Amino acid sequence: MRDELLELTGALKDHILSEKESGSGMSRLYLKGDLATSSPASADPARESGLMSVLPVTLEDIRAELGECTRCKLHGGRSHIVFGEGNPHADLIFVGEAPGGDEDRQGRPFVGRAGQLLTDIIKAMGLERDAVYICNILKCRPPGNRNPEPDEITACEPFLVRQLQSIQPRVICALGKFAAQTLLKTDTAISLLRGRFHSYQGIRLMPTYHPAYLLRNPGAKKQVWEDVQMIMKEI
Ligand code: URA
Repeated sequence: MRDELLELTGALKDHILSEKESGSGMSRLYLKGDLATSSPASADPARESGLMSVLPVTLEDIRAELGECTRCKLHGGRSHIVFGEGNPHADLIFVGEAPGGDEDRQGRPFVGRAGQLLTDIIKAMGLERDAVYICNILKCRPPGNRNPEPDEITACEPFLVRQLQSIQPRVICALGKFAAQTLLKTDTAISLLRGRFHSYQGIRLMPTYHPAYLLRNPGAKKQVWEDVQMIMKEI
């Protein structure tokens, strides 16, 4: 019985590791060691086999791994890391570009003018803001709200990827060009990407215009409304 259990847990661990290496079929399970966390040892067969180190990774684990991040040059100019907020089991995640001044001061995503518009959009969808999860491609404010730079995206993206894997939403809404192009690994214009679902690691992803763009171009609200209606049908 013990040998069978060891064999079974070993096979399961091999399967998870091979999925992880191939990048296919991402599941909610992946190695806690990825986030440099450890748990106390014990002498049971499951732990001996390594299975006990395979646990769901929580948003708290990911936040702890991020720490007082100095992985890119943005850390010098920030007041607060803006990790993300909302329902850790959300069906819907909004991903924006990067914190602005209000977000940097408060340590919360989308709390300025664009954030108020996003909150209105969420309410118009019949949802409360705390029912969804909201985060950004970058967790620190670029100086003067300039565009994210490639090295900053490279440093920050692994944490966003883990947040998305941890939450496993049904739909991701990518707000604006940077979020959509970063997640979909494409240079295609947001005007061509929006309006239909794409796939992000098996999750449906809807690109739409950024709320800050809507503040400058209110005429585009109609298209955003079409996009969010497609999301509403999906969730
Ligand atoms: N714009 C973004 O992309 N994200 C925020 O959090 C605020 C404004």
